[in-house]
Amino acid sequence: MTRKLYWEEPYSKEFAAKVVSVERQVVVLDKTLFYPRGGGVACDTGTLNTSRVQETTKTDDKILHALESPASLKAGEKVTGKVDWERRHRLMKMHTAGHLLSSLFYSRANCRITGNQIDVDRSRMDFNLESFDRTQIEGYVAEANELIRKDAPVKTYFLGREEALRLPDMVKLAQASPPAEAQLRIVEIEGVDRQADGGLHVSHLKEIGQIQLLKLENKGKTNRRLYYDLVGIGITRSPDLT
Ligand SMILES: [Zn+2]
Repeated sequence: MTRKLYWEEPYSKEFAAKVVSVERQVVVLDKTLFYPRGGGVACDTGTLNTSRVQETTKTDDKILHALESPASLKAGEKVTGKVDWERRHRLMKMHTAGHLLSSLFYSRANCRITGNQIDVDRSRMDFNLESFDRTQIEGYVAEANELIRKDAPVKTYFLGREEALRLPDMVKLAQASPPAEAQLRIVEIEGVDRQADGGLHVSHLKEIGQIQLLKLENKGKTNRRLYYDLVGIGITRSPDLT
């Protein structure tokens, strides 16, 4: 079992770990800050010593770091890992923005999120909404931006599954995809939203900047697709973020 340092200290950029196994380009460590791809969220990249980590994925109990070239690392060896912080931080902001939007869609229009792709340069969200009303959707984005301006802390903690599913606002999650774990990791935007979620988030809404609605698509009967980006003071876009 790889220890998920990224849950314990999502704002850390560098860590020391021990190599558990190496198979060709794939390295498993005893612990890691690298967030693996999954659930529609892009993964961390970075370095292990001097080797580039191209992709991070997961199995049931391990986090797999795929290097650019065959690893010179050996089991038992100590390594220093560094995540590409600008990328990671942007993914954290994108992900929290996604929760904020989905909570507004749910509370205002009772619509569910049916798919999402949280990525660095733009993110995508699919949801079911009877009408395809641009003004209505723009209104939810404006409301999300107002909540960001007002700011609120974002907290993560664990709850027993039974206890979590007794909370009225957790029903949406239970209906959508009841996770198998006995303990659920909860991500809570204070006063706004609570979801069971394994993702990484910013600790305050204001870090997001502002959500920019890029595009809306009509994907059939009740399926709508929204693309968004983030803009704001202090957010720099580097050309390699593609
Ligand atoms: Zn999430």
